[in-house]
Order: sequence, then C-alpha cells, then structure tokens
Amino acid sequence: MINKEYDVIVMGGGPSGFIAAIAAGRTGARTLLVDKNGFLGGAATSAALGPISPFHIRDEQVVKGIPQQFMDRMVAYGASPGHCKVLDPYGSGAYLGFFDRERYKYIAYEMVREAGVEVLFHSVYSGTIMEGDRVAGVKVVNKSGENVLKAKVVVDATGDGDVASGAGAEFVLGRAKDRKMQPSTLMFEMSNVDTDKLYQYILDNPEDFEWKSDAVPVREYSDRLVSKYFVAQGFKRFVKTAIENGELYIGRDSILLLNSVHPGVIHFNSTRVINVDGTDADSRTAGEIEGRKQVESIVKFMNKYVPGFEQAFLSTTGNEIGVRESRHIVGNYVLQADDVIEGRRFDDVITRGYFPIDVHNMAGKAGYGDPESAGAWIDIKDSYDIPYRCLVPVKVDGLVMAGRCISATSEAHGSFRTQGSVMAIGQAAGTAAGLSAMKGTQPRELDIKQLQDELLRNGASLRRDPQAVEQETENAQKHAAAFLKANPRHITPNIGSDSSAVRK
Ligand SMILES: Cc1cc2nc3c(=O)[nH]c(=O)nc-3n(C[C@H](O)[C@H](O)[C@H](O)COP(=O)(O)OP(=O)(O)OC[C@H]3O[C@@H](n4cnc5c(N)ncnc54)[C@H](O)[C@@H]3O)c2cc1C
Repeated sequence: MINKEYDVIVMGGGPSGFIAAIAAGRTGARTLLVDKNGFLGGAATSAALGPISPFHIRDEQVVKGIPQQFMDRMVAYGASPGHCKVLDPYGSGAYLGFFDRERYKYIAYEMVREAGVEVLFHSVYSGTIMEGDRVAGVKVVNKSGENVLKAKVVVDATGDGDVASGAGAEFVLGRAKDRKMQPSTLMFEMSNVDTDKLYQYILDNPEDFEWKSDAVPVREYSDRLVSKYFVAQGFKRFVKTAIENGELYIGRDSILLLNSVHPGVIHFNSTRVINVDGTDADSRTAGEIEGRKQVESIVKFMNKYVPGFEQAFLSTTGNEIGVRESRHIVGNYVLQADDVIEGRRFDDVITRGYFPIDVHNMAGKAGYGDPESAGAWIDIKDSYDIPYRCLVPVKVDGLVMAGRCISATSEAHGSFRTQGSVMAIGQAAGTAAGLSAMKGTQPRELDIKQLQDELLRNGASLRRDPQAVEQETENAQKHAAAFLKANPRHITPNIGSDSSAVRK
C-alpha cells in the first residue's frame, strides 16, 4: 500500500485536467496529476480527435490564458498552424486548431512539468476517500498495487465525474428527461490519400454535401504545415448507394472528414454509436466493438467509392471510443440552455463560453434537425459566462469539478463540451483548488474576486476587450481575403472575394 499526501490532486489528464494541473502548480500548491493512460490529452489524444474547436465566437478570441499558452507552444514547436478561421462556421464552429496529436502529448507534459507538478500514469481511480462530507483524497490502482493519495483539494477531471460520483455527489446522467446521451464515436484516420483529388471532388459536387468549408490560418506558423485545410460533411450519394448495395455499415447517413497537419492524412469523425453509457464498462466495451465494425466498413467504402482514397489505408484509430457525454455533476448552479443561447452574464464568471449548442443525433442516423429526436446545431446570440458555482458540487467539500462533467443541463453541455471551453474551465478549477489548499479554505468559500484576479493574472479573458476584438477581426479578415484571392475556386459556399459575406 502506497500512501502520499499533496495539496492538490488532479484526477484525469485530459484537456481540462492537464490545464488544471498547470494552474494549480502555478499557485505554489504541491500538485499531483493522475491518469489511467501513459500520456496526457484525454480524449484529444487517446480518442484520436481531429482539430481543437474554436476558442472564438465569430473572430473574437474568447479563451486565452493557459489554453492559449499551450496553443502558442504547439505553434512554436511546429505542431500546429494555430487557430484557423473556418470560412463557413456551420457544423464546425468559427475556428479549427489543427494539431499534431503525438506532439500534443509531449508539449502538455512539458508545461505540466514546468509548473512543478508530479505525474502518475497508468493509475486507475478506485475510490474516493471521505472525511465526513469532505473529499480527502483518492485511491488508485496500478502496477504497484493500491495507492492512497491524500489531498486538501481534489479536482475531478475524469470527464465522467468518477471522483464526485464516488463521493456521493448528486448527478444527472445525460438528458434529465430520459437519460439519453450524445452518441459516441470511434475516430480514425486514413493515410496516403490524394487530398488534391478529394478537394477537387468536393469542389465539383457541392450538392452532395450538407456543409463544407475551407479553414484559413491567421498567424505565422511552420512552413512544414502549409496545407489547404478543409472540412466537409456529406458524400451522401455514395453513402446511399453503398448502403443500398449492402456495402456500408455505418451509424450515420453521411461522412464527416477533415484533413490534418500531415500530408495525405484524412481524419474521420464518421462512426456513430448510440446508447453508449460511458460510466458502464459493459456498455463501453460494446461501444468499442461496434465502433471498430463501422471503421472497418467505412475504410473499404472509402477505398472503393471516394476519389482520392484508391490507395489509402487505415493508419490510426482511437485507443478508445470517444464519449461525448455522461454524468453532469450537480453544482451550486446548473447552467441552462437559455443562459447559453441568450449570452447571460454572472458575477462569478470564471470563463466565457462561445460555441453553438452542438448535439449529435442521440437516436438515429441523420445530421442536425429536431433536438428531441435528432441532433441540434443552435447558434447562440453572444458569448456567455460560466459561473464558478458550476464547478462546486452541492454538499461535497474538498472537490472542484473540471471539464465536460461540470454542472449543466445536457443542452448547455452541448456548447461548452469542446476543448477550448473545457481547458479554460480547467484553468479555473486548478486555480481555485490551489488557492483553497494554500489558504486552508473550502472551494465553496473561496473569495471569487481573488480567484478572478488570479485568472486574469494568468491571462484569462473574463470580459470582452473591444480593442482586442477589433484587431482580431481585422487580422482574420485580412487572412481570409488573401486566401480567397489566391484560391478563387474554393469549397466554401456562398462566399465571393469578400469574407464578410460568410454565414455567421
Ligand atoms: C467523439 C468526440 C469528438 C469530439 N470532437 C471534438 C472536436 O472536434 N473539437 C474539440 O475541441 N473537442 C471535441 N470533442 C470534445 C473534447 O474531446 C472534450 O472537450 C474534452 O476531451 C473533454 O475534456 P475533459 O478533460 O473534460 O475529459 P477527457 O478528455 O475525457 O479526459 C479525461 C481524462 O481522465 C482520465 N480518466 C478518466 N477516468 C479515469 C479513471 N477512472 N481513472 C484514471 N483516469 C481516468 C482519462 O484517461 C482522460 O485522460 C470531442 C469529443 C468526442 C468524444
């Protein structure tokens, strides 16, 4: 039995967890970051995600601070072209941050180490240590046996809220009314694709696509990464024919693909497995098997039907299926869809959300449509505040929530569940945990002004800065205009040489 004590333990090293660990470490708290994998990044790396979704609403960069420091380092290391402006944001959001997944793992670790954080890999959560109503640590199992890891404050960044659930915290699994959750996806990539031929096909067959767009880098970046970045959802005719011929086994009625930072590599967000409960081992196992069956079929389909894929091969699958949604831990405030859509402000803001409500179809094969039965893409009026109260579970002390499992309805979660937001939430959670541990106070009693000041000191953006927005917009428009001039034929619809005509 191994016994250790820390000021802060961050359980889970995904986008929210590794940023939380950096933030906690920077407060001076003795911090441990634990993950079941042997690398950081969570779903971004282990589920083989494509680009990081925007940190932006329109051209305004809403998420800054440590998440942006991480993006800057990826650009500096030649691992990303940075946030790319999506000329038609419908379906993918205003910007996409293409990145090298293998370099992400290293760069995340490097920043964690620089913050003085200890890391423990290959360690699976096995229980929450309680002292009354207070979380006093976690138990994990690994090759060394059982470990008792005590802390003044624990950050639950497991995505599924495992630590909170083990503490007896109240939660809602999926949608409150029927416990349905967003579908899961086993991501994959194919290599040796003739991407010029693929782009040309999309260009020549616009009616075959639900949406598609070019994505334009807006800053200096490595020459090695220069590429024509794009995203497209469709290939409907091929999909229909192949399904009718019994040649395609897939959970959707279209293919969603993007290119990547590597030449000839295409990323697929194209399997769909409904009714996966990420908190249930049997359900998760069944999801993996079903996802892999779909991948096998889609690869054969792409080779046979889609121009550019004749010589392509399956080069990557996620180590695990990507689970979009599971537990929503009930906190001192439950973020609502209306808060998101109306752009509500809260005094205890710790970051701002900006992404449309993006709910993949929970019940069937179609794309966006009726939110009850199908998926939904709901634009929001403005950025909105995420209050600190959503990170603090009701009743349970010694615990701060980070990432996709914070307190929100399923619909509101559909907006902040992407990486930019969960990273920013992670910064707030880690900072709050560090400050609470160092002061000997409970997270719920933390002085919000002090937390906000510390976030601002570390570069977070809590309120709109009109001057920055003006500069960001001008820069984005300049790069978009240059792209359109150099590429008079492009896949983005309804756009001439003036990028302000882009659908918002
Ligand atoms: C299919 C899919 C597609 C997506 N597409 C995009 C996209 O295009 N752009 C985008 O920005 N975002 C996308 N997202 C969302 C993005 O993945 C999430 O925002 C993000 O990964 C959530 O971060 P997190 O830190 O809350 O949780 P996670 O990324 O799930 O990280 C949780 C971490 O905790 C660890 N962990 C969990 N349970 C345990 C345990 N019991 N013991 C030990 N360790 C544990 C895991 O190993 C993992 O490292 C997608 C998500 C999915 C599932």
